Amino acid sequence: MRSHLLNGLTTEHYRSSVTEGVERVAAKLATTDRPFTGVTVDALAPRVDAIDLDRPLGDTAAVLDELEDVYLRDAVYFHHPRYLAHLNCPVVIPAVLGEAVLSAVNSSLDTWDQSAGGTLIERKLVDWTARRIGLGPAADGVFTSGGTQSNLQALLLAREEAKSEDPATLRVFASEASHFSVQKSARLLGLGQEAVVPVPVDHEKRLQTVALAHELERCRRDGLTPMAVVATAGTTDFGSIDPLPEIAGLCAQYGAWMHVDAAYGCGLLASLKYRHRIDGIERADSVTVDYHKSFFQPVSSSAVLVKDAATLRHATYHAEYLNPRRMVQERIPNQVDKSLQTTRRFDALKLWLTLRVMGADGIGQLFDEVCDLAAEGWRLLAADPRYHVVVEPSLSTLVFRYIPAAVTDPAEIDRANLHARKALFASGDAVVAGTKVGGRHYLKFTLLNPETTTADIAAVLDLIAGHAEQYLGESLDRAS
Ligand SMILES: *Cc1c(COP(=O)(O)O)cnc(C)c1O
Repeated sequence: MRSHLLNGLTTEHYRSSVTEGVERVAAKLATTDRPFTGVTVDALAPRVDAIDLDRPLGDTAAVLDELEDVYLRDAVYFHHPRYLAHLNCPVVIPAVLGEAVLSAVNSSLDTWDQSAGGTLIERKLVDWTARRIGLGPAADGVFTSGGTQSNLQALLLAREEAKSEDPATLRVFASEASHFSVQKSARLLGLGQEAVVPVPVDHEKRLQTVALAHELERCRRDGLTPMAVVATAGTTDFGSIDPLPEIAGLCAQYGAWMHVDAAYGCGLLASLKYRHRIDGIERADSVTVDYHKSFFQPVSSSAVLVKDAATLRHATYHAEYLNPRRMVQERIPNQVDKSLQTTRRFDALKLWLTLRVMGADGIGQLFDEVCDLAAEGWRLLAADPRYHVVVEPSLSTLVFRYIPAAVTDPAEIDRANLHARKALFASGDAVVAGTKVGGRHYLKFTLLNPETTTADIAAVLDLIAGHAEQYLGESLDRAS
């Protein structure tokens, strides 16, 4: 069994084993002609169930054959140009190399004595990101598991900075289109049921600053504390970017912590063409960035940045066995002092290798390409009488709905759109997402693959229309 431990005696086994795995994935990527096989839960579950975990196969090749059967064959492949559903990106090769290195060395970024250079690399990337945002000389931050955790930590800092005796009086303002992790965080932070005040959005799905000013004023009048405003720089559904400069002004006026959730829009930090769309982000007290959404990094890779490093102390605890207080005086950099996690992956290495191989401009160029693709997709949709498209994209998302000329019942149109999405998924020809707008069912493309073309978009729109028409035809038959 010791032959399976990775060490100086087993490097040959390590090399051949990982190479075998890489070969399988490479073969898969080279031959996958659809983003998905359309496998159903009922078809796949028995194959997974049938495996007896107490009877190991021992042999890597046999295990990889088995993995083909339970995972690789039917995985949802984000690298495929017709995967258009959620905020998942195809990944860049330097980052995948980073993943292989970081799991083999297995540094843990909680303390210096478990990571050494890893800590310094992470810190340098935090500084790099903070500089790109423009947070100023006192900025700091830490890598996290994802945007959800980044938002939670940011709101924890905001809560502590609000210094209110009674958490029930704290209010957080976020647009109706903000991410649900804002509500989840408020819940986890012990804020009241009413803590998150939803602010209406304009027709472009951006937070209405007039409404925000009104809510902040009411909060003050009611003797409550405006703990934070969450501005979303790239909403999950629409990619809409809240008016950051105006929100910054209101936060200053009412003494509220400004958090910018740029989980999606952070790709603009590297953009060569569209960086100005997030101007004002530099005025934030904290920022969430998800490199695993728009920097083409494998899951997970994310960070929370703060304008004032001192605020990170609200996440600091000292333990004799790990990070005793005296280490602060000794200037030993322990990232655990800034993190909600303890043992923590060296995800920063992926971004490091990406920047060292491709450079930030390389990432920015890829993100610009998907933003341009979305603009072209919008023109296609706006000119297509079969579809209603919601807003012109600020990033790379398109939300639209199939609207057959002959059908007027909105509930029937809802069913046709829902059916089209399901039928497309079952066919495996393309994967698209769905959401609700004004109570009605819509479809969504999240475009993060520079390999996707306008021809792909046009073809998928035809597929959707075909499935929807078929449903409506059958529905007509049922009625008669
Ligand atoms: C995806 C997303 C999140 C959550 O990030 P995870 O990495 O999935 O935890 C938060 N905010 C916005 C705007 C997002 O799009």
